[in-house]
Amino acid sequence: MTRQPKLAEGASFPPHEPDKLYFGCIDARVRIGKLNLKEGTTLIDRKIGGLLYPNDPELEATLEFAVKVKKVKEIIVSGHLDCGAVGACVECNPQVPKVLAYMSPMNAARDKLAQEHGTDRDAQKRALEKEIVKANLATLRSFEIVREAEKRGDLKLTGWLIDVQNAERGDKSVLNEATGEFVPAPPVKQWRRA
Ligand SMILES: [Zn+2]
Repeated sequence: MTRQPKLAEGASFPPHEPDKLYFGCIDARVRIGKLNLKEGTTLIDRKIGGLLYPNDPELEATLEFAVKVKKVKEIIVSGHLDCGAVGACVECNPQVPKVLAYMSPMNAARDKLAQEHGTDRDAQKRALEKEIVKANLATLRSFEIVREAEKRGDLKLTGWLIDVQNAERGDKSVLNEATGEFVPAPPVKQWRRA
C-alpha cells in the first residue's frame, strides 16, 4: 500500500535550503563565488548600483520568500568599489538618464558628500558607495518581516563593500554599524568543490 506523503508547510516549493540572501550590484567584476558564499547556499538579487527601494514589490516578494519561507539567517547588502552607477550619479552623467533616475534617492547624500569632499570626485564616489550600503540596511529594516526576524534574533543584517580590483581574492570590507566604519575583512578561505 502506498501512502500519500504528508504535505508540509512550504511543500509547494522545491527542496532548496539557502541560509543567506545577498543583494548587490549588477557589476560583472563582482565574483559571488569568491566571497565565501558557498555554492547553493545563497539567494542572490542584483540591481544596478545595488540600490534597494522601500516600495519595490520585487524586493518585498524576495524578502517574503527568503525570510518567511526559507528562513535565511543572514541578509548581506553589498556595495562595491569603482561602481559605474555611483560614478554616473556623482558626475551627473547625461548619457545615462535612466541610471540617474534610478540612483536619484541618493542625490541628497551625494550633494552632502560633494560639500564635504570638495572637488575630489573619487573620494565622493567611495563615500557614496558606503552610504548606499547604509541606506540599503535602513530600507531592509523598513519591512516588518525583516525588523521582526532581526528582533527575534533569527536574522542578521550585514553590509559589505567589495574591492572589485581584487575580486579574485574576494577582498572586501564589512560595515561596523556601531561606528559606521567599514573594516577590512580577513582574506577569504576559498571554498572548493568536494
Ligand atoms: Zn556597481
